[in-house]
Amino acid sequence: MKCTRCRKTAHVALPSHHSGFCADCYPLFFTKQVETAIRREKMFTRDDRVLVALSGGKDSLALMLELKLQGYDVTGLHIDLGIPNSSDKARGKVENFCELNGLPLRVFEMAAWGLPIPDVKEHIKRPVCAVCGKMKRHHFNRIAVEEGFDVLATGHNLDDEVARLFANTLRWDTAYLSDQGPVLPASEGFVRKVKPLFRLSEFETANYAFLKGIEIHSDPCPYSGGASFTGHKELWGELEHRSPGQKFQFYQSFLKKGKPAFAQVEKETGAELKPCTECGSPTSAEICSVCRIRAAVRESKAKAE
Ligand code: SF4
Ligand code: ZN
Repeated sequence: MKCTRCRKTAHVALPSHHSGFCADCYPLFFTKQVETAIRREKMFTRDDRVLVALSGGKDSLALMLELKLQGYDVTGLHIDLGIPNSSDKARGKVENFCELNGLPLRVFEMAAWGLPIPDVKEHIKRPVCAVCGKMKRHHFNRIAVEEGFDVLATGHNLDDEVARLFANTLRWDTAYLSDQGPVLPASEGFVRKVKPLFRLSEFETANYAFLKGIEIHSDPCPYSGGASFTGHKELWGELEHRSPGQKFQFYQSFLKKGKPAFAQVEKETGAELKPCTECGSPTSAEICSVCRIRAAVRESKAKAE
């Protein structure tokens, strides 16, 4: 196969785009997809301060590098979860990457905040990943709001989005279906959230990270029972193989037709939010669930001592 752009031997075939690219031209394809996402969805401009959530994985680091190369004002934010033999490695990759590329980075330590994730695992009966995800979302939003960033960008790719949409659809979860998408607008206490990689598959992002020589953290978290939505991703991999372009079509059609309908349902039934009396984050209760979890862990630890 020949490169669609320069006619040299193609390094990667992209059936869903009816094209293929050599190693030199591939990053240009990637750049174009990110540019299109940002422009069409009006994600941010070069005047905005963009906070990028960095886990150390391929998606977040590829996103950070690409936004920097496109001239955006980016700052990385890494959350050190305090998980032994894992968090220090992820943090090391993020710190090295930012240093190497001259990128500003903030690190927030869950242990210093009084709630390393191992404590959640030990003292809270709920699945650790549900609580960990909630904590991460909470602190990404809180720090973005407190430090005056215009937008929070995450590295979610098309496969992540389709797998999540599929899971939400299987449950007909109207609350999640009403606000899933590449842009979540800002509202009282919430920064705007964007996913500039939503047009690119996991394979396409991995390819970019590889060609750019990005050193990523790829060890699985010791608490994960496997990557999230693995079964759904495999299923969609099969569908995509049979009919290239299906994933993107499913997602785009949802944004156009499904999401507005679910948003209407939620507008009629959604709960009102007010600031948490402990941390100020928006919540429908007196104290937000993150502050309640932290208090429950403290109480359980005190009892155990
Ligand atoms: Fe947190 Fe679970 Fe992800 Fe580990 S696998 S980082 S515990 S959400
Ligand atoms: Zn709170």
